[in-house]
Amino acid sequence: MSDGENASPETKVVHLGRDPQRFLGAVNTPVFRASTILFSSVADLDAAQRGAYQGLAYGLHGLPTVCDLQDALARLEGGHAALAVPSGLTATTLPLLALASAGDHVLVADAVYGPTRRFCENHLRRLGVEVSYYDPLIGGDIAPLLRPNTRVVFAESPGSLTFEVQDIPAIAAAARARGVRVVLDNTWATPILQRPFELGCDLVMHSTTKYLGGHGDVLGGALVAREDSELWERIRTIQSAGGAVAAPFDCWLVMRGVRTLPCRMRGHCANARVVAEYLAGHQAVERVHWPGLKAHAGHDVASRQMSDYGGMLSVEVRGGRAGALGVAARLELFTRATSLGGPESLVEHRASVEGPETRAPEGLLRVSVGLEHPDDLIADLEQALRRA
Ligand SMILES: *Cc1c(COP(=O)(O)O)cnc(C)c1O
Repeated sequence: MSDGENASPETKVVHLGRDPQRFLGAVNTPVFRASTILFSSVADLDAAQRGAYQGLAYGLHGLPTVCDLQDALARLEGGHAALAVPSGLTATTLPLLALASAGDHVLVADAVYGPTRRFCENHLRRLGVEVSYYDPLIGGDIAPLLRPNTRVVFAESPGSLTFEVQDIPAIAAAARARGVRVVLDNTWATPILQRPFELGCDLVMHSTTKYLGGHGDVLGGALVAREDSELWERIRTIQSAGGAVAAPFDCWLVMRGVRTLPCRMRGHCANARVVAEYLAGHQAVERVHWPGLKAHAGHDVASRQMSDYGGMLSVEVRGGRAGALGVAARLELFTRATSLGGPESLVEHRASVEGPETRAPEGLLRVSVGLEHPDDLIADLEQALRRA
């Protein structure tokens, strides 16, 4: 029962997605690279396409390293099946393209990841799809925003900037009552902190670039379906028609990250708590956004639907733009870089990263709290804030 459905996540991730019998006893699936596969007869080729590695005939369709990651991610989320794709944005755009045709409507969380919003604005609209946005704190009141032509609610929780926590069960129930699918971006919470299928979602996407890969050295995405359906079949068809498959080495790196995901998430969450509480009590700080703080608007919902509050936070520093840029410049241990989810703590000024269209407050710094010793992180923040 080593990778049984009932095992705890810590145990599951260690044993998922491998079968030593297949690779000369290698305990973990190696990087299996091949563009094409030998068949001794046409009949063999037909059989292989119906076999264990369905479609193992050409590199585009299911190499073992890719399939094993897909299998592991599907089981980890508790879904029917998963697809590994080259980036988180591929995993975002595939279900949107599969669900929405000209004349349809998609409803997107207002606090959604910036590039997701840009795809909807610049490309879905061009294809004749209606796009509108909802207040992430809306909960069950989302019902009146669902139109007769609404096909999908695209949710993301916690949100990308100030960590709005959406009441996913309420949103999913309202959507389900109208036959509307719910896709959740679960990148920040990960399958360890939040269980989207248990909360009523139909599809889950991840940027595996972040916590799942976990080491800041790979780009990847994954899409997981709760159940088999015509929609899932259409998504698979669009993926293969568009050639959007992940590379074996990238999948191998993500699998390697997944093995330690629960224990890394424990470290990220514990460090984030120390950093958030320190910042919340600092006189140079106006506000801290982290769902684990009782003062955060999403604290109660997060306590219901997440097992911990995550490793990401943002802080509004006194002195607006100049104040925030000054603190970021003085930090020595925190790396000034975008992205998140690796062992190193990162800090970024989102208003600068996003440019003139930004919705980020000028005084806001977003922090991906890493796995350094928390005392060292606090000491660095202390020296950077002392002169703020
Ligand atoms: C990074 C990120 C994405 C996009 O992922 P890429 O792998 O960079 O394409 C999508 N959603 C969230 C919440 C992210 O943080």
